[in-house]
Amino acid sequence: MLEYFAKDLSSWYAKNKRDLPWRHTKDPYNIWISEIMLQQTTVATVVAYYERWTKVFPTVTLLARAPLQKVLKQWQGLGYYNRAKNLHKAANILIDKYDGKLPQDPHAIRALPGFGPYTTGAVLSIAYDLPLTIIDANVRRVAMRLLALPGAADVKQDQRINVFLLKVLPKKGVGDFNQALMELGALVCRAKEPVCSLCPVTKYCQAFKIDRQEIIPQIKKKVITEIQAVIAIIREGENYYIQKRPPKGLLADLWEFPGGKIKEGESEKKALARELKEELGLQLKSSQHLFNVKHFYTQFKVHLSVFSCLLEALPKTDATHRWIKFKDFSKYPMPSGTAKIIEKLEKR
Ligand code: SF4
Repeated sequence: MLEYFAKDLSSWYAKNKRDLPWRHTKDPYNIWISEIMLQQTTVATVVAYYERWTKVFPTVTLLARAPLQKVLKQWQGLGYYNRAKNLHKAANILIDKYDGKLPQDPHAIRALPGFGPYTTGAVLSIAYDLPLTIIDANVRRVAMRLLALPGAADVKQDQRINVFLLKVLPKKGVGDFNQALMELGALVCRAKEPVCSLCPVTKYCQAFKIDRQEIIPQIKKKVITEIQAVIAIIREGENYYIQKRPPKGLLADLWEFPGGKIKEGESEKKALARELKEELGLQLKSSQHLFNVKHFYTQFKVHLSVFSCLLEALPKTDATHRWIKFKDFSKYPMPSGTAKIIEKLEKR
């Protein structure tokens, strides 16, 4: 019975797939960019980023030659900035070792920065039609329902899911088949309220048979940490003081205003004075609260309390500390919370 699974799914995909810019190309570079952007990010957000990126960096060569800061600027707001750094590193390796082309050998491609099993399978199956399975969150959920697997949707399920996928993978049109499974998860077999009445594979679905599609997979509660922080806007005439985050860790290499987390029991003003002393070695002379900004990152939410600050002296400048004019903010890659602060400053 499973022999018609791929055909049923792929015919549905041909009629129902969304018209997305990366579906108009078989260029491995474009497919690679779209697949990296789509990890952890919604399709609606990615479309504009993808279109801009492919105009600024239309080829592997232009991406490899660009300064990292320019690459990060194009990525600003997409989050998980290591993805952009890995694209840049991998582009340079492709130029040095593979004449600027993505190799078709899965082992060679897995050795490039940013290529895990999912990206390798997605790029090689979509661009070169190689018979590789892929498992992302959508595929995992759909397969767990098709097989009525117990438990939460996590990587522990992937071995069993992969055995199933290998059984149903078609000989040709593997890229379309893989995209069809993901599209089914995004449009029909959604996390909440799957629309089984529109599903092309109902007859193969064990969860549907036993009416468990709403409770498979088990939902894990997401824990979102809340962070309170103070931010210092330091001005000297028309110039604003910014600093670069360390090259490792959260939001690495992005530019921001000085400031940091408020400790438990600490007031905002005390936190501000402490952070400025620790980060810049300077005493805070006076401060005035300007506004608050909230921003949601994937795992946490930040509440930023923004102050205009006067220090005992002007802070130093070096490779990671600069004075810049307001118009030059657009040249610096920044965390989304900082970008929101700049928007608010502009409106004042
Ligand atoms: Fe998902 Fe329903 Fe289709 Fe099963 S029948 S795969 S639960 S949409």
